[in-house]
Amino acid sequence: MVHLSKAWQQVVNNNDYPKPVQRVLGELVAASAMLSASLKFEGSLIIQIQGDGPIRLLVAECNSRLGLRATVKLLEGTDIPEDACFKDLVNATGKGICAIILDPRNRLPGQAPYQGIVPLSGTSVADSLEAYMHSSEQLETRLILNSNSTTAAGVMLQQMPQHGGVVSNKEFDADGWDRLKALINTLQAEEHLTTDTDELAKRLFWEEDPDGLAERQAHFECSCSREKVGRMLVTLGQAELNEALSENPTVEIQCDFCNANYSFTRADCEALFTETSHEDASQNPQPPTLH
Ligand SMILES: [Zn+2]
Repeated sequence: MVHLSKAWQQVVNNNDYPKPVQRVLGELVAASAMLSASLKFEGSLIIQIQGDGPIRLLVAECNSRLGLRATVKLLEGTDIPEDACFKDLVNATGKGICAIILDPRNRLPGQAPYQGIVPLSGTSVADSLEAYMHSSEQLETRLILNSNSTTAAGVMLQQMPQHGGVVSNKEFDADGWDRLKALINTLQAEEHLTTDTDELAKRLFWEEDPDGLAERQAHFECSCSREKVGRMLVTLGQAELNEALSENPTVEIQCDFCNANYSFTRADCEALFTETSHEDASQNPQPPTLH
């Protein structure tokens, strides 16, 4: 279960998204925290929805310390009605996709992050992620996700393997899955958003004698840095930077996740390219070339 307030409010305050967009993003953020916390994995879990409607891209990222960040890219110049639903926003013509990326903390150079992709399905973030877990992980999963401008909350129910696995000390309960699913299906958005996880577990599962395993705090955390922006600028190439600098005295880059602003003067940009060529030389020692 997850109940986010401060971490989610920081995402909300960094941007001014229309209400229906904010709601979908909140659900995605709650899901990213639960999936990340349920994995034994050092690094970042990123859920991306590439939409074909007014939302072009939704990204929610949660690392193993439960540091969260999220952003949205909207199609410019579209009005989003107050009552726009999930399908209108991201799957208007049925071409939306959902990707989950696992990016290990100490990724080796050249090592690609793990990525799984499924077409968007159903009428919500929860439907799409349930379909993802079913097809990619072969895990039956039921998700309840809700959000408003102050809270993002989620409950995730996941079937454990019948033999082996963590539940081996308990007797297998053949009806358990259907019974628990029925219990969480009774949860309404209003109650979900206004009840903390302890209280909610008691209310939903009081007959099931639940074990609370651990409680952890999530927080907002952005991994952007001047160094990373610099590396991105280098990939654009000197010609493109020179063109930008011919129009403005500095190149200004704003982080989509936290709004931090990074400013590079002409001298800064030139230094990027000399630094990079030195780094390349030290990382991949090449035999000297004869001219
Ligand atoms: Zn940032």
